[in-house]
Amino acid sequence: ALTADPQGVATHCPYCALQCGMWIRSTEHGVEISGRDFPTNRGQLCRKGWTAGELLDSAERLRIPLVRDSREEALRPATWDDALDRIADAFTGLQRAYGNDAVAIFGGGGLTNETAYLLGKFARVALKTRMIDYNGRFCMSAAATAMRKAFGLDRGLPFPLDDIAGTDLLILAGVNTAETMPVLVRHLDELRASGGRIVVIDPRRTPTAALADVVVQPVPGTDVALAYGLLFGAIRAGLTDGEFIAERTVGFADVRATAMGYWPERVELLTGVSVAQLDELIHELALARTTILLTGRGVEQQVHGSAAVLAYINLMLALGRIGRPYCGYGSVTGQGNGQGGREHGQKADQLPGYRRIDDPEARAHVAQVWGIAPGDLPGPGVDAVTLLTDPDTDVHGMLVIGSNPVVSAPNAQLAEKRLRSLDFLAVVDIVLSETAELADVVLPTTQWAEETGTMTNLEGRVLLRQKALDPPAGVLTDIEILHQLARRLGHASGFPTDSRQVFDELRQASRGGVADYSGIDYERIAAENGIFWPCSEPAGIGSPRLFLAGFATPDGRARFVDVAADLDADCPDAAFPFYLTTGRLMDHYQSGAQTRRIASLRRASPEPFAEVHTATARSLGISDGERVRIVTRQGSVILPARLTTTIREDTIFVPFHWGGSGRANTVTTNAVDSTCGMPAFKLTAARVEAV
Ligand code: SF4
Repeated sequence: ALTADPQGVATHCPYCALQCGMWIRSTEHGVEISGRDFPTNRGQLCRKGWTAGELLDSAERLRIPLVRDSREEALRPATWDDALDRIADAFTGLQRAYGNDAVAIFGGGGLTNETAYLLGKFARVALKTRMIDYNGRFCMSAAATAMRKAFGLDRGLPFPLDDIAGTDLLILAGVNTAETMPVLVRHLDELRASGGRIVVIDPRRTPTAALADVVVQPVPGTDVALAYGLLFGAIRAGLTDGEFIAERTVGFADVRATAMGYWPERVELLTGVSVAQLDELIHELALARTTILLTGRGVEQQVHGSAAVLAYINLMLALGRIGRPYCGYGSVTGQGNGQGGREHGQKADQLPGYRRIDDPEARAHVAQVWGIAPGDLPGPGVDAVTLLTDPDTDVHGMLVIGSNPVVSAPNAQLAEKRLRSLDFLAVVDIVLSETAELADVVLPTTQWAEETGTMTNLEGRVLLRQKALDPPAGVLTDIEILHQLARRLGHASGFPTDSRQVFDELRQASRGGVADYSGIDYERIAAENGIFWPCSEPAGIGSPRLFLAGFATPDGRARFVDVAADLDADCPDAAFPFYLTTGRLMDHYQSGAQTRRIASLRRASPEPFAEVHTATARSLGISDGERVRIVTRQGSVILPARLTTTIREDTIFVPFHWGGSGRANTVTTNAVDSTCGMPAFKLTAARVEAV
């Protein structure tokens, strides 16, 4: 280990994008986990982090490959050779019959940078398919698209997390960090202790709202109108920064003209946020000299999610509160490596180094690193929802790795039907997830503590997860599995099994790109508590604060983007009068494949529910705990009602961590933001019926 200590091996939590530092140690009583002093967590862990070790020796983890000859049979144990041969033979046969794009890869935002990189190379070099995408599409794509348009590049936070504690005003829009990233609350507490103020914008009064000075609960899907309303108020109150706008931005005139159409009374009508509350928000902006605005999935997972992010960025640019210390816009990313996952090649339109796959120079560079001709590099492919639900893609076989789309995909019954219709499905996972249950071949893989690799957290900080334990006998790492498959597909070299070798190649492939990792190595990461990308120099800690000297656009100026406040695709009507929104709970992580298998987390949150306002329940004749049917245009799900007064009366909330009969995504729309493929999980028209 690079950093070992009596407390154990220095590593990081397997879950969210905070990537809290941990010590992990083997004792005669089993694996011990403790918090480690790291900039994101200062030794703290949440309940998920503390219990992460329980899955390592769980009876439910996979330890041997599983195969079956037909879908009517049950999965049965097999040798690695048998399982790997089946995948290689099936993919080769399907590609011979239908062409290279007949085989697809669906990856995950929790995979290490090394696996993400090698997976992109495996798809494009070994399989020669353009069909690769990943579940980070459900998590980061709207904010990424918006930041790229406004700033020329996106990084979850273009500043270190520690800046939060030093700002005057923190605005959290659609962010429920108290449940999704509990350790981040430490930064909010520090902010409050230093006199800073917090505004929360969310249709639900979440546990995060309890930390706020001002809370507004807009109608779901009205963020663009709300942001324009705030810009109107800021212009009227003389809060805009003329010098910043003139010197560091382009395009304010059009945005200003649009904002003039969002006077307070109209915004109240559109958003449900009263004129008095709008005044209160403007007052907060006027009091603050520095401001950080963060969006989360609540804003981003809509058909106009990228427009909503751009509208909030417009506000921050007009105030001159971006590209300055303790100021900025950022997205609180969800998955552990949603950031690095796309930077290095799992996303359909990107190549390593955050390069565009349709850029001839980028193709030439990456092709040269991979030893192929640029013309042989396939792509771009299609977005995740298309890949998972559209039969017209002509995909006949798929490898799913580190993802559970049967639970997590929007309109999941459509995704499940599509996966069942494939001629061949292979899944690589640590447990028999709902997706793995459908597969023809299931390969067991190592868990986070059993392999060394890098992750990139929400700040763009590249960090090192060190191997602390040996995996169960016979369980391979992701990159060993890719090596074995590539070898069977005729690529004996080019797919190393050592993570350091893979990272060294990733560094070369990223050199000169937007997300340049070429100056980063394992030793420096361990010595510096992580290195921020871009980093092409073999010294220093990389680039913690972006945009101080200019934005990443050709002229160094940020772009105002004049977005429209279109109505959502799936608006409530007489038949479906409620806004259904989904989200996460403190005790579970994403599709729940891991956390539902940890006893204390399962006990704390054993089942899904539908959160309904008490007044709404009364009008529908529903009592607390009674089972209700949530019906949408996609289908229906029956759940116990949980009555509350903290949600809007027109909104229903369902957590999405469960499969089977409690699967929230059975009813969510598969409409996407057309600019980025982000599914609209946060707004599906629904009705509620007593069962
Ligand atoms: Fe893990 Fe996130 Fe909890 Fe930290 S906040 S311990 S990274 S789940």
